[in-house]
Amino acid sequence: MLYLKDSYKKEFEAIVKEVNANKIVLNETYFYASGGGQPSDKGIIIFNNQEFKVINVKKENGKIIHELDKEGLKVNDKIRCMIDWNKRYKLMRMHTAAHILSAIIHRETNAMITGNQLDEERTRLDFSVEDFKKELFEKFIEEANEEIKKDHKITIKTISKEEAEKMENLSRLAKGLPPNLKEIRIVKIGSIDEQADGGTHVNSTKEIGKIKLLSIENKGKNNRRMYFSLE
Ligand SMILES: [Zn+2]
Repeated sequence: MLYLKDSYKKEFEAIVKEVNANKIVLNETYFYASGGGQPSDKGIIIFNNQEFKVINVKKENGKIIHELDKEGLKVNDKIRCMIDWNKRYKLMRMHTAAHILSAIIHRETNAMITGNQLDEERTRLDFSVEDFKKELFEKFIEEANEEIKKDHKITIKTISKEEAEKMENLSRLAKGLPPNLKEIRIVKIGSIDEQADGGTHVNSTKEIGKIKLLSIENKGKNNRRMYFSLE
């Protein structure tokens, strides 16, 4: 899972380690496997001038499975991999934007983020807050855009679980940290947000552009849903 260290790598070489029909495992990979509300990468694999499309990437029993559009690769094939950068970069911008917006909503209302689904065109955020006025949500977005303009840097570090447990407000997601994790990857967005996170982010908030509110929905009780896009 090399994307955890370098989210900006677009092309790399790898060796096929396992093959099960059109599903392969590599010695190492920069392809993002779906998880944490971020969809998997897509892309292309080249071997002997033959092109294989990567149509899905997922984690299964601790392995990263790359699902291809056809069979044909064998164990020990040395392949060239290209990530669909357009899609991935949009998702990186969306992911960092979702964190900033969540942090603002939490700061202003103390609301818990209860769900999220990133997408290239629109991202969904679910959270529990009493108020349901469009002006309020527009204010959150405006504040988030102000922070984005300040060009906060995003930094990533790995700490032990013991260290993480001592940090307050580390994970806002109600679920908390997975029980059998030894090391925790911490993504920090300037002074705005600090989270345990396995997703891909941009290096600085200016790369995000501008958040635009698409719609809000009342899902009953205190459950609110927001969709946003990026300009
Ligand atoms: Zn995240």
